[in-house]
Amino acid sequence: MEDCIFCKIVNREIDSNIIYEDDLVVAFPDINPQAPVHILIVPKVHLSNLLEINEENKYIVGHSYIVAKEIAKMYNIDKKGYRIVSNCGNDGGQTVNHIHFHLLGGRFMTWPPG
Ligand code: 5GP
Ligand code: ZN
Repeated sequence: MEDCIFCKIVNREIDSNIIYEDDLVVAFPDINPQAPVHILIVPKVHLSNLLEINEENKYIVGHSYIVAKEIAKMYNIDKKGYRIVSNCGNDGGQTVNHIHFHLLGGRFMTWPPG
């Protein structure tokens, strides 16, 4: 997808410090971290957001959560706890229109979020 910043990161057209990659996803630190650990898990396929999940591609979501668990272990936040967020649309606070999952941890996460 042209002009999609996360597609460009996936395709190595923009630099990011990729800390994990497999056939389906890449993961890298958020440029504007909201917690001591703030990693973005980004499916390689361009889906705009949660609205584009369907029966054919739903395995990507489950896979992303398994990857998040492994990254939580890498950063030693699995036992203390962590949060996964996927903002969808304007009211959801989405700013990049390529589906992604925020992995947040390393501090107590308040609820509800602002
Ligand atoms: P959203 O607001 O769509 O839920 O999340 C998009 C996230 O991507 C934001 O937290 C923002 O800081 C992050 N972000 C935007 N552009 C870049 C970039 O070029 N590199 C990295 N590493 N993160 C980015
Ligand atoms: Zn994209």
